[in-house]
Amino acid sequence: MTVRTRFAPSPTGYLHIGGVRTALFSWAYARKHGGTFILRIEDTDLERSTPESVQAILDGMHWVGLDYDEGPFYQMQRMDRYKEVIQQMLASGQAYYCYTSKEELDAMRAEMEARGEKPRYDRRWRPEDGKTLPAVPDGIQPVVRFRNPIGGVVAWDDQVKGRIEISNDELDDLIIARGDGTPTYNFCVVVDDWDMGITHVIRGDDHVNNTPRQINILAALGAPLPTYAHLPMILREDGQKMSKRRDPVSVVDYAGMGFLPEAMLNYLARLGWGHGDAELFEMGEFVEWFSLEAVSPSPARFNKDKLLWLNQQHIKAADNQRLTELITHWMAERECDVSKGPQLADVIALVKERVSTLVELADACVYFYRQLHPHDDVRAQHMTEASLALMKTLRAQLAGCDWTTEAIGALIKAFCKEQGVKMGQVGMPVRALVCGTTQTPSVDATLALIGKDETLRRMDQYLI
Ligand code: GLU
Repeated sequence: MTVRTRFAPSPTGYLHIGGVRTALFSWAYARKHGGTFILRIEDTDLERSTPESVQAILDGMHWVGLDYDEGPFYQMQRMDRYKEVIQQMLASGQAYYCYTSKEELDAMRAEMEARGEKPRYDRRWRPEDGKTLPAVPDGIQPVVRFRNPIGGVVAWDDQVKGRIEISNDELDDLIIARGDGTPTYNFCVVVDDWDMGITHVIRGDDHVNNTPRQINILAALGAPLPTYAHLPMILREDGQKMSKRRDPVSVVDYAGMGFLPEAMLNYLARLGWGHGDAELFEMGEFVEWFSLEAVSPSPARFNKDKLLWLNQQHIKAADNQRLTELITHWMAERECDVSKGPQLADVIALVKERVSTLVELADACVYFYRQLHPHDDVRAQHMTEASLALMKTLRAQLAGCDWTTEAIGALIKAFCKEQGVKMGQVGMPVRALVCGTTQTPSVDATLALIGKDETLRRMDQYLI
């Protein structure tokens, strides 16, 4: 059997990080088993499925780099196929027209509730041997209902939640086509999973209630039953449900905050899945280690500090040229012309150890391209009269220095000795003058990259 999995998002305007985790597990399962991963856009809700919200899904998938082998397929383009299957089911008696009006349904519900029963459709239009159906009323567009089995249970071995059994008596005869002929959500999913040969349905556990209905329809169609795996939710750190209003939930929000896609995937992989104590890994390793059995059935909690730590590790490991491209727009926003001054990749190599996001990385690169002036507290501490006098002498010596990290380092060391001061008494003021901050990498490498003329020019701003 060739594994075929799918990710089937409904466009909502953005790609939710929980959706990305679902896609990631589905993708990893296919990749691990040499299978096929399919993207299907469930766009039958016309109000929400704008071209922009469909594009948001495609952009999100592209950003995280989850590649699909087939699709995107769009349910709206498959309407004829759903209608064809509905006709076949009507012809074979697996589905039937139901003319019950809304008023009748309301009355039915009220009566059942009054009797203390769970409201359900009473199957009045379901054909049975020897049963006389009501006369077809005028002016009602019938819905089509699925003839759900009566009695017995629907059961499946969920790969995450274990065995689940639902009594058929809990399930109504589901409406599979509305009065206007359009197929309903659960029905489209069934036909798609069947037509697309899906072997493993890996999805959020908000769909667990749909599964018994979908299994019954698949069985009626004689379709092979896929294996199901329902993934638990991702909660906020405090255990509450995530909300779009309070929390960044769209994956591109994380791009905007300066997270690397590989850090995001690494982090999402660890939400509800684990492999020993492995925290930091590449997607190749994840695919190799992934199994549905190792997915936890209990909800996972989002931990921003852990995500930041992973991002920091992935930034350290990332290629500097790639990081250059990723932060160029942030440098422009910070009014830095990176075509003048040191190579941005060299600056990144020097400062990247210290940052957790690409935004912080861009911030850490600014003073290599334009002079920043120190805040009052830095001035008070490191730009006293005595230290400015010391800087004046140092400036004169730097003017004659060979401009390499080694030569600058040696000069500063000798200078400290000659003046009888500690390294910090020189390093801090020179950083303050040249970089506008004392938080910089080693002073010799920093000055080397900023360049001799620029270093002296910046010092002169305070010394002349
Ligand atoms: N379209 C559904 C959603 O976005 C997923 C359906 C499925 O995976 O079966 O939640």
